Amino acid sequence: MKVNFDKDQDGLVPAIIQDVTTGSVLMLGYMNKEALDKTVESGKVTFYSRSKKRLWTKGEESGNFLHVEDIRPDCDNDTLLIKVLPQGPTCHKGTDTCWGTENKATYGFLSELENIIANRQNNARGDKSYVASLFESGINKIAQKVGEEAVEVVIEAKDTNDELFLNESADLLFHYLILLRAKGFDLHAVAEVLQKRH
Ligand code: AMP
Ligand code: ZN
Ligand code: ZN
Ligand code: ZN
Repeated sequence: MKVNFDKDQDGLVPAIIQDVTTGSVLMLGYMNKEALDKTVESGKVTFYSRSKKRLWTKGEESGNFLHVEDIRPDCDNDTLLIKVLPQGPTCHKGTDTCWGTENKATYGFLSELENIIANRQNNARGDKSYVASLFESGINKIAQKVGEEAVEVVIEAKDTNDELFLNESADLLFHYLILLRAKGFDLHAVAEVLQKRH
């Protein structure tokens, strides 16, 4: 791995720590060559602490280690992106990330879709959009739509036409996102329940 430690007079490069599962940025620390070597050897993120003025393995007191999954230098080799499996909360203040609980995981395009759906709900009155009219028709109607789409998925699952199956799956997911929103929830709330069971 090529890393340029010489740009900084203290021989440090910033290391961005990202949760490999959720994509959340967990924290930022600094590494010198020794810290990076130790990180690679041990599989646990080890920084050079500028306040402690020594190597600092994150979790050495709390047990909340950051288990390394991937290390990548950036375009000019002066910054590291490290993907990890966090053991417990990363911030010493108890939150998952050093940016508190605001820095929620996103689900890529699905999150974008959730935002669009929320906008349609907020402008539902008088809006001609399909989503807006669904919100206008109420929870029962939306729930019924989800039921219908679920049945269509079941029917297509029994067939061999992959395209139809995927299309009905998309219909189901779309209407399910609308139902979640109508009930005042989002994908995050559901993921949290699943995570707690895990
Ligand atoms: P730990 O490495 O988790 O055992 O924590 C040891 C000490 O390092 C804590 O008492 C804090 O002073 C500091 N510390 C731990 N985690 C962080 C963090 N995410 N950001 C800044 N300082 C931290
Ligand atoms: Zn760079
Ligand atoms: Zn913190
Ligand atoms: Zn359908």
